[in-house]
Amino acid sequence: MFIQPQENVRSDFHPDLTVILLGTGSPRAFYGRAKPGAVVLAGDKAFLVDCGGGAVDQLIKAGVMPQRISDVLFTHHHYDHNAGFFDVFITSWRTHITSERVYLGRSVPMQVYGPETTKEIIGKMRESFEFDVRLRISYNLSDEAGSRIEYTECNEGVVYDKDGIRITAFEVDHRPVYPAVAYKFEYNGKSAVISGDTIPVENMVKHAAGADLLVHEAYNKPWLDALIARYPEHEKALSNPAKYHTTTLEAAEIARRAGVKHLVLTHHIPAPAADETAEEAYIAGMRKIFTGAITVGRDLMAFRL
Ligand SMILES: [Zn+2]
Ligand SMILES: [Zn+2]
Repeated sequence: MFIQPQENVRSDFHPDLTVILLGTGSPRAFYGRAKPGAVVLAGDKAFLVDCGGGAVDQLIKAGVMPQRISDVLFTHHHYDHNAGFFDVFITSWRTHITSERVYLGRSVPMQVYGPETTKEIIGKMRESFEFDVRLRISYNLSDEAGSRIEYTECNEGVVYDKDGIRITAFEVDHRPVYPAVAYKFEYNGKSAVISGDTIPVENMVKHAAGADLLVHEAYNKPWLDALIARYPEHEKALSNPAKYHTTTLEAAEIARRAGVKHLVLTHHIPAPAADETAEEAYIAGMRKIFTGAITVGRDLMAFRL
């Protein structure tokens, strides 16, 4: 079901819908868990969903050169989901030449999708890139069109429908971050949903119904409670996730009700070690609720549907 990242993802055409997890971490700093993000490959397109701090490095490790990215979809605007945008924007615009191949920089405006607030927030970021952008156009002769951004703000509805690829945004609940969305990708008869950050919502059950893959955020409540018991002076900082995230058991319940084939957890809090023993402990109780496939996502895992 899942493949090694370097296998078959370097080619530029993907007959199968493929989801690669770039980062499975959270705002916390865990070794080996990059900030959240995923790349979705379909046909000749590579869509970046969220853009955490390590996005460019993770793309390269995943075998997807950043020059292929001209579409970035934001689920919401917590920094762990957007702080890598400067790097992705400029790197994708730069031509990269190796002895084997030329990776032509993006010569079209970056297409940025996200909930309302996206244009204001990413627009301000883009203004801060202006010094570098001007130099690249005047000195490095980068294509001017690549310096621009075109925005599609949508909380609920189809945001992309071309060449057999359809992407639907739908609202989730990550308040006080409002609005926040999830994305459903459909291609070649397969579907994959990426939740972004959210508490359990009915809209997820509705849009993920029958999906081949559901990448859902989750935190482990007993593990978090144990940390709070150990560090009561940090109770407030530690208990915050409970207010606007989904527990592992709740994610299993969502997957069961939606009838998805495969549930992949991401945005782990606290992150388990990337080994089977720790991951089995992390998902304790989930298999009683959801009998489909469950995977604890690791950075650079790829799922070809
Ligand atoms: Zn987050
Ligand atoms: Zn968030």
